[in-house]
Amino acid sequence: MDMETPDVIAVPFPFQGHLNPMLQFCSSLSARGLKVTLLLTHGVAKSMQFPLSHCRVELISDGTDAGEPPRTFQEYRTRLQAAVSEGVAAIIQKHQKAKVLVHDSIMSWLLEVGRAAGLRVASFFTQPAAVCAIYHHMLCGTVKQHTASDSTLRLPSLPAIMEFADLPSFSYFGDIAEEVTDFTINQAFNMPKADCFLINTFDSLEEQVVKWMAEKWAVKTIGPLVPTIDKTLKGGKHDRIDLFELDSESYLKWLDIREPKSVVYVSFGSVVVMSEEQMEEIAWGLAQSNKYFIWVVRESELVKLPKHCNFKTTEKGIIVKWCPQIEILSHEAVACFMTHCGWNSTLEALCLGVPIVAMPNIADQSTNAKLIEDVWKVGIRVKVNEKGIITRQEIQICIKQVMEGEKANEFQRNVIKWKGLAEEATSEGGSSDVNIKDFIFQMAYGK
Ligand code: UDP
Repeated sequence: MDMETPDVIAVPFPFQGHLNPMLQFCSSLSARGLKVTLLLTHGVAKSMQFPLSHCRVELISDGTDAGEPPRTFQEYRTRLQAAVSEGVAAIIQKHQKAKVLVHDSIMSWLLEVGRAAGLRVASFFTQPAAVCAIYHHMLCGTVKQHTASDSTLRLPSLPAIMEFADLPSFSYFGDIAEEVTDFTINQAFNMPKADCFLINTFDSLEEQVVKWMAEKWAVKTIGPLVPTIDKTLKGGKHDRIDLFELDSESYLKWLDIREPKSVVYVSFGSVVVMSEEQMEEIAWGLAQSNKYFIWVVRESELVKLPKHCNFKTTEKGIIVKWCPQIEILSHEAVACFMTHCGWNSTLEALCLGVPIVAMPNIADQSTNAKLIEDVWKVGIRVKVNEKGIITRQEIQICIKQVMEGEKANEFQRNVIKWKGLAEEATSEGGSSDVNIKDFIFQMAYGK
């Protein structure tokens, strides 16, 4: 390795949806010759299912390793900030050649830690640019969350069709909704301040809002950070972090014997928790849809499956605790992705060309669902009844619309278009490829 190569230190937020985009970005920097150190927490290292082979890793504390677990969200936040700040400062001191700190934007205070040590600092945002713009407007007070439920929202840079109901929502968190809102929208805090503000999206996907941001601030789109389409990482298996144990069920064999485009893949990510009633509706909706399905139900959610609905593995469907989602979505048998619209899942569906049944739940998921249905037109969003439940009938109708008939063809055509544009963005000379090279040039080499 060239002695002059500057080091990059990268600090992801220790949650499933935040880890892989950062890891992917680090791999992409390493592939372009930079020396990158990824800082993971002890908790992540303990849960990780596979060691990383392409990335240098060092461990730090997130403030929860010793003593009693935090009793409140506020306590978690305070301990996280103290422990991560201290850990990052110590690692910077150890790596004298470190020139750049890349940190997850949710830990916005790391900007000061990096600056104090004389590093250039990039904040890394793992949701769409539109959501970042909304958080920015919320921080500035231009928009108050859910103030007028059915009126249309007029915000510079955002699609005119956006309504208040499409804004990110944290009411799910009940008593601590306000604290979680504050924590989450703070991600946009560094957009005007960071030396570089990286977003896991691509220009042609969010043209208007990206242009609006990039005219004002040092915003760079570097996505989609989804392994299969980053051409710089040729050969060898991609590193991935899974915090959940992969199910031993042989889902790939089960998929291999299905007809092309005959299976619904169902997953609600790593965080969403469903009510028992909702789980029952999903179970019956899937069983009665008359389609094949793979449904990811995390270990902690398994007890909510209806007792009489005995289909751990049947001819029609298979339930798994955790699976390699990208591999499943890449499989030719998969025709439809019923998802909670987490940003990674959304990007993976676009990159792998799978139309969506959108079932948003918390945080940015409603905004993503709005974009999926009305802007990118790659799927349909379920309707929630007056009791807050998505019924089995509604689930069946939506699956049918995404898999059969003229609408299904249109979704398929559109998703293939976005897949092509995603590939273009990450290919040599594409917008994200150019932005990553600029990042290296400006941030690592200070040119
Ligand atoms: N995922 C996976 N296996 C599963 C379910 C999910 O690998 O069985 C991955 C999925 O590919 C995605 C991530 O977990 O990369 C979930 O991130 P997302 O932003 O979609 O949702 P979150 O978990 O943050 O709500």
